[in-house]
Amino acid sequence: MTNKNPEYDFKWCPGCGDFGVRRALESAIERRRIELELPVENNVVVAGIGCSGNLLHLLEGPQPFGFHGIHGRTLPVAMGIKMGRPDLNVLIVAGDGDFLGIGLEHIAPQAARNLDVAAIIMDNAVYGLTKGQSSPTSELGMITSSTPYGKPEDSMNPLRLYLSMGVSFVASTMSSKVKDMSRMITDAMNHPGFAIVHVQSPCTTYHDTYEQLKGNLKKGIEPIAWDIPDDHDPTDADAAQTAADAGGVPLGVIYRDDQRPTFHQRVAEMGQKAKPRDIEKLIGSHAV
Ligand code: SF4
Repeated sequence: MTNKNPEYDFKWCPGCGDFGVRRALESAIERRRIELELPVENNVVVAGIGCSGNLLHLLEGPQPFGFHGIHGRTLPVAMGIKMGRPDLNVLIVAGDGDFLGIGLEHIAPQAARNLDVAAIIMDNAVYGLTKGQSSPTSELGMITSSTPYGKPEDSMNPLRLYLSMGVSFVASTMSSKVKDMSRMITDAMNHPGFAIVHVQSPCTTYHDTYEQLKGNLKKGIEPIAWDIPDDHDPTDADAAQTAADAGGVPLGVIYRDDQRPTFHQRVAEMGQKAKPRDIEKLIGSHAV
């Protein structure tokens, strides 16, 4: 997309976790294109503001449609697209600042609706694009450019939040797990309803957490990422809550409920009950 928009120059820093997310998303879109024999234009990517949102412009290969819009408003935009064109596969790419900061208020209503979109959230616990301010997922006490004496708020647990709000598909991974993430994104796209793939995507410039995530045996650092056991039942809400509360970074699908109707299905059902009314009578009913 950069080539097609030479007036813009979107770049990521070397080693940024978002490169891995981009690769996973590209391969998931390609898989969908081949498996469903649908053109790449059947996919729409709605981007938030931040380094993560720039993913839209850095996608390589066949290009889906894209909408890079308003800070924190990926979900309302995605809802508009999905309601207007339910045949499209609507994806969101956003970061922790955009989605969980200014955009937080939109998650609960879309979870209640079970809007049929898939969101890929790149969490680096910092506002990278604006030079490293603290974000909702920054740890308590973290020194950043906006919290020189340490962040005074607790860190948010996004997985717990998604579950408590009723998001019907919740997965968690990290950016170096490209293959697993690609499969997860495919599952999220195929899931009927609101799906979130939450990715730990380190910011190598302002908050490099690779070592924490993967561990470093030589330095005696244990990894904080851990595989969700094979016997985890993602349809069990209590088991999902336990995984979300366990600390560290769980890797895998935490929760899924494929039985809930989507918002579009509910609206379509309502539409069948609605009685068509004569347009002339409707206009006349408002005449003075
Ligand atoms: Fe990635 Fe951080 Fe650079 Fe942004 S500032 S591109 S998040 S490494």
